Amino acid sequence: MRDDQGKRAPVLSARDLHVYYDKVHAVQGISLDVHAGEVVAILGANGAGKSSAMRALMGLVPVRSGSVLLEGTSIDALRSDQRVARGLGYSPEGRRVFGDLTVHENLQMGAYVVNDRDEVSARVETVYGMFPRLRERTRQLAATLSGGEQQMLAIGRAMMRRPKVLMLDEPSLGLAPVMVKVIYQTLQRIREQGLTLLLSEQSAHIALAVADRAYVFENGRVAFSAPAQDLRNDPALRASYLGA
Ligand code: ATP
Repeated sequence: MRDDQGKRAPVLSARDLHVYYDKVHAVQGISLDVHAGEVVAILGANGAGKSSAMRALMGLVPVRSGSVLLEGTSIDALRSDQRVARGLGYSPEGRRVFGDLTVHENLQMGAYVVNDRDEVSARVETVYGMFPRLRERTRQLAATLSGGEQQMLAIGRAMMRRPKVLMLDEPSLGLAPVMVKVIYQTLQRIREQGLTLLLSEQSAHIALAVADRAYVFENGRVAFSAPAQDLRNDPALRASYLGA
């Protein structure tokens, strides 16, 4: 969809979102845009509202006010499963995989709406191409995978739907540095294939290495947003907004 000036609308937008948990005002007027082919990072400390904002985009928490737009059209009235059907992919914090299913079954579940078996097989192959370690473990139960492997599986499963935008909540959380490197190398490749990504991270330097743009959240608000390059290259900016 195009706007008045004929420009292509962002794939995903938040407009002045507010989320409350009882009296806790967790998201206090967040606005952001994710354009096709971009990798956008949401950075911020513990409790800054990153997960809550993502859940609001997915329709997983009630939004008090504000709006979520997919390709310029409001999706506020849609349930989360309907948002998934429209092209939002999401891998939550804590990488929830189906522990009593195999790696292969988890991936197949990711594309359960696709009836064409050849198409499902082709998509599984694409994921195995990205994460060879998953191919080696195709018959292994997901519960027995390492944390990093479960993260790969969670990302792979979300990719099975070929989402218009893939949201990853803290993909590096709790992983050994070597695993974080593997995950981010793969995100780099996913990015090179043109997939649109929105990821949240506490570890700014990791996310800034792959991101095009970043939003820094503080206490439920956007404190700052800029091209990732600016934050990478300017130690004073990083010190002001990221404490590093
Ligand atoms: P983290 O990296 O620790 O997950 P975050 O930036 O993702 O942090 P949120 O998890 O969105 O932040 O939390 C934002 C605020 O909302 C915090 O003050 C948190 O305590 C509060 N909060 C989050 N979930 C709930 C909930 N289910 N009930 C009550 N308060 C919540």
